[in-house]
Amino acid sequence: MVEPMIGLKRSHGCAALRDGDVGGKATLMGWVHRRREFGGMTFIDLRDRDGITQVVFNPQHNSEAFEKSQALKSEFVIAVTGTVGKRPDGTTNARLATGDVELLAESIRILNTSKTSPVPVADETQATDEALRMKYRFLDLRRDKMKNRIIMRHQIAKAMRDYLDSQGFLEIETPILVRSTPEGARDYLVPSRVNPGKFYALPQSPQLFKQLLMVGGLERYFQIARCFRDEDLRADRQPEFTQLDLEMSFVEQDDVFTVIEGTLKHVFKQVAGIDLQTPFIRVPYREIMERYGSDKPDTRFGMEIFDVTEGLRGTEFARFNEVLERNGTIRGIAVPEQAGASRKELDTLAETVKSLGAAGLYAVAFQADGVKSSIGKFLQESHVNALRAHAKEGDLVLLVAHEEKSKALDILGRLRLELGRQHKLIPPGTYNFLWVVNFPQFHWNEEEQRLEAEHHPFTSPLPEDIPLIDTDPRNVRSSAYDLVLNGNELGSGSIRIHQRPLQERIFQAIGLNQEEANEKFGFLMEAFEYGAPPHGGIALGFDRLTAIMSGVDSIREVVAFPKNQNAVDPMTGAPVEVAQDQLDIVRIQVKATPKAPQESGVLV
Ligand code: ASP
Repeated sequence: MVEPMIGLKRSHGCAALRDGDVGGKATLMGWVHRRREFGGMTFIDLRDRDGITQVVFNPQHNSEAFEKSQALKSEFVIAVTGTVGKRPDGTTNARLATGDVELLAESIRILNTSKTSPVPVADETQATDEALRMKYRFLDLRRDKMKNRIIMRHQIAKAMRDYLDSQGFLEIETPILVRSTPEGARDYLVPSRVNPGKFYALPQSPQLFKQLLMVGGLERYFQIARCFRDEDLRADRQPEFTQLDLEMSFVEQDDVFTVIEGTLKHVFKQVAGIDLQTPFIRVPYREIMERYGSDKPDTRFGMEIFDVTEGLRGTEFARFNEVLERNGTIRGIAVPEQAGASRKELDTLAETVKSLGAAGLYAVAFQADGVKSSIGKFLQESHVNALRAHAKEGDLVLLVAHEEKSKALDILGRLRLELGRQHKLIPPGTYNFLWVVNFPQFHWNEEEQRLEAEHHPFTSPLPEDIPLIDTDPRNVRSSAYDLVLNGNELGSGSIRIHQRPLQERIFQAIGLNQEEANEKFGFLMEAFEYGAPPHGGIALGFDRLTAIMSGVDSIREVVAFPKNQNAVDPMTGAPVEVAQDQLDIVRIQVKATPKAPQESGVLV
């Protein structure tokens, strides 16, 4: 049944034919999308990457083609030659670009057959298990939605390249087989056959290489770079993912921001026709934490956290007084139009905050006929007024009291997000960008009782905070910044250290002694001694940006061949065991019971 394609040439794509082509000949090639019988004729929707054209097999027009068409099933691959006809009145299809015309088949070749697809290609309304879609990704990619996301991914990459090229950036590849470094997530290791017992790592990011490119005088670098991190994939992560990575010499923070704002403006305009407002707003880390309880807040809705610690002094409510005596804090949010929330709804919310570590959730409802609250009897008028300052009629004020400020903020931040989603306060189709600046240089690793770099150890502290490194390291602010979009950390970067003595001091502060620092990062520190220019940069999550612009939640939806939550590719089955001789050649012996995976560290 199957015939060769030899000698046939495609004349048009399946989205090309229009009224003006009527009467002409065309040869189309593609997949059988749908087949219907009507009035003694067979109608095929023929699909290729561009779109769909209706092909009619009419026994009166060409009986041989009609006979052959009777064998066609979904996803068969065919070549059809015929005459372009105008569709009869009443049968045009406004949803198709080719909806005014059809191809009257005169000859057909079946180029390949297809088994019944386990993934419904034509019917996208049918819910399909993601595991099945990933196993048969080659079929899933045929579906319109997936195809469009892959096309958008390409368009975003192209727009980035075009813009950065126009700004004097060079696209430079950095190595994939690199040296394993201690700081960061866990490395993927690759054994070296030529150097038995030695390993390369796959890069967690091109961080050190891009800095060395700056020392190398290349001034403006970018790369749409694959990064590899061997982490647990609890959240929406992939073991290999893509970043728009860039680095610039002779710049300050604002210069990096301008380039990224320009890039995103260009990308949104080119790919989605959207005009982004730039510059994006900039908010210091400390302020963002106070207002949203998160360093990646969703600012598409309000409901900001407020501080009523002072206003609620002197109540008769034991829990508040207990917390205040211990120098704790009372914070709240005002949920719009929820003053009428039921007992049951409030109980559910209370359960949520308890599971997050609060002793309780205290609700005060500002109803039209007065203030209602289960703690009302403990409050005087001045206390109610302190709350009223943050609420309007119809609002439900929710309070959390906690000994630790960061905990109270974190709990309310999560509650805010949950309620924002639940009450549909997040407007669709909006893109709220925000720079978070002045991150702390270090954070305290409670488990290991040591300081760690908050961003990475190559980040420069703010010059005015350098003296605090030895005296008050936890209050040292860094020149790191994050770009946040709709509650996602879209990217992060920093102005870097470019001098050896400061780099040594930072390594020391995070517990790397001189010997270790020299062993692991000697090449970088040596480079800093040969005229390293001031430099800084950033990396944006390319998969995440594509997911947001495509309107999907998971980055798996915008990766052609993703891995599942167990870091397995269900299509190829990777990772797999390998043959003993492959192991022997790299002198590796596999232990019987692998250790349970754990996570570590800060990402580079
Ligand atoms: N390499 C950093 C990261 O992957 C980004 C940067 O600092 O440029 O997060």
